[in-house]
Amino acid sequence: MDEIKIYKNPGAKVVIKVINDKCVSAATCIIHAPETFDLDSEGIVYAKQGTWDEAEEIIKAAASCPTTAIIVEDLEGNILYPKQ
Ligand code: SF4
Repeated sequence: MDEIKIYKNPGAKVVIKVINDKCVSAATCIIHAPETFDLDSEGIVYAKQGTWDEAEEIIKAAASCPTTAIIVEDLEGNILYPKQ
């Protein structure tokens, strides 16, 4: 079972889930949403504290991930990316 980390941010309109095992440290997500994503000391992506990028940028970041390691949901739990 893949470990999924859930990130919430009081000011954000989305919830971010990261499937850690899928992250291959490509870092394209960080290029699209630098205020939201960073890599930890093991090269695995995480969502930062503080103000995130706009939801549109976060979805673009998720879409740029070669392994679909990032799932973006709205606050009601509807999946915005990847499209079902
Ligand atoms: S783009 Fe995907 S694989 Fe690359 S760092 Fe971000 S989550 Fe990990």
